[in-house]
Amino acid sequence: MSADELFLDSEAGTTAYREAMQRATDAVVDSFAAAENPYSGRSPEALSEQFTDPIIPETGTGLDTAIDEVATKVLAHSVGTSNSRCAAHLQCPPMIPGLAAEAMLTAANQSLDSFDQAPAATVLEQEVVGALCELFDLPDVADGVFTSGGTQSNLQALLLARDRYCRRQFDRDVQADGLPPAAESLRILCSEEAHFTGKQAAHHLGLGEDAVVAVPTDEKRQMDPDALDEILAELDANDAVPFALLGTAGTTDFGSIDPLDALADRAAEHDLWYHVDAAYGGALALTDSDDLLEGIERADSVAVDFHKLFYQPISCGAFLLGDGGDFEWMARNAAYLNPEEHDETGVPNLVAKSVQTTRRFDALKPYLAFRALGREGMADLVEETVALASDAASLIEDATDFELLHEPTLNAVVFRYRPREAMSEQAVSRLNADIRERLLHDGRAIVARTEVAGVTSLKFTLLNPTATLDDVAEMLDVIRDCGAAVAREQEVLA
Ligand SMILES: *Cc1c(COP(=O)(O)O)cnc(C)c1O
Repeated sequence: MSADELFLDSEAGTTAYREAMQRATDAVVDSFAAAENPYSGRSPEALSEQFTDPIIPETGTGLDTAIDEVATKVLAHSVGTSNSRCAAHLQCPPMIPGLAAEAMLTAANQSLDSFDQAPAATVLEQEVVGALCELFDLPDVADGVFTSGGTQSNLQALLLARDRYCRRQFDRDVQADGLPPAAESLRILCSEEAHFTGKQAAHHLGLGEDAVVAVPTDEKRQMDPDALDEILAELDANDAVPFALLGTAGTTDFGSIDPLDALADRAAEHDLWYHVDAAYGGALALTDSDDLLEGIERADSVAVDFHKLFYQPISCGAFLLGDGGDFEWMARNAAYLNPEEHDETGVPNLVAKSVQTTRRFDALKPYLAFRALGREGMADLVEETVALASDAASLIEDATDFELLHEPTLNAVVFRYRPREAMSEQAVSRLNADIRERLLHDGRAIVARTEVAGVTSLKFTLLNPTATLDDVAEMLDVIRDCGAAVAREQEVLA
């Protein structure tokens, strides 16, 4: 291929672009979107055997052949995220406006670290951030930045929390001088159902995972504020210094939402940075159930993911600050990106608000979706899936061979296959683990596994607004099929 056909600055280039995008689109539609089952069932070994040709051949095949190969070797054996029987993780079916936005933003290739690399994109990202701050009722001084997702947002929250605390309590400039000796006594509080990235961030921030103290949850899997009070008193008695409280709006396994307002009270009383991880549940702010998020407006920071319940393609998240002034804890000026005089002349350079430098224009995706569908259109999608989860829970509860483990708050439904009441917990655990193994190779349903009180359980995360209760019933039948096959195998082996 000549350079003219590889870049967009000539007629030959634009023609090649249209053809390549059309071929890629056809590949997605024919080899991926049209598949009957959400997975082909191919094993890792069989997948690997497809790639015996050199990845970097001496001469290339040309684009058409290469795209066709991707269609048959990759797309055909990808998880059908848009299939209504793909219901395992917080991996959403990406909505078509998001896919269109993705095509535009990658073609434009703007980089959000400096205004001169992304003029309209820089301004628009800030506008979208402003709208999000309003959506969560954050104060007028709120600000934020787009991130790769909850992991990065949670890291950034705890980074700013740590550095603000160290400056105020120990007069230590962590950015310049590193952690103070007293850092060993720093603690982060979150519920026992909180996402593992809180611990991961504690590790990355030099505090260690043991700095994270897990607060027990109640029967609804929400942080118990009384238990939090007890732990705060204990930490105080042991000269440990908590500096951050992490509330979760939508836990990964159960979709449970901590009592955000009660947690905000504790954070205020004990002078803790209050971070709300709303990576999953933040989308409720669009809906009439937004009262479940009451208290989020009092947060120092909020993490929200658009690649989950906002139906945008990966990756797309935002980190919001109740007081944008807190970005000062990571401020930096690079002469070539955001020289100090720009701060004075008002040229917006977002590099100092992010842990990334080169950064994607992911804000375009929720922007296009919001503009195209409006709040109502987006809310309908979320509400339909929450209603489906509730119906699915009833279906499971009514089935004699299934056991429901909780009433869903969002769209996660945790359950077990228990064909005989009298089975021991150990037998149920093994059966459900084996079923989940078999499901992966079966391919008719993509279902997650998790552990509840040490017992392997199954989980649906019902994010797909086009899925129906019939799809759920069909997935339960597939689980029954796999359960029967597993039981036969166990008898043969016994
Ligand atoms: C998904 C999720 C994360 C991690 O976010 P990524 O977008 O995967 O980086 C963190 N917390 C919660 C509650 C989540 O659901």
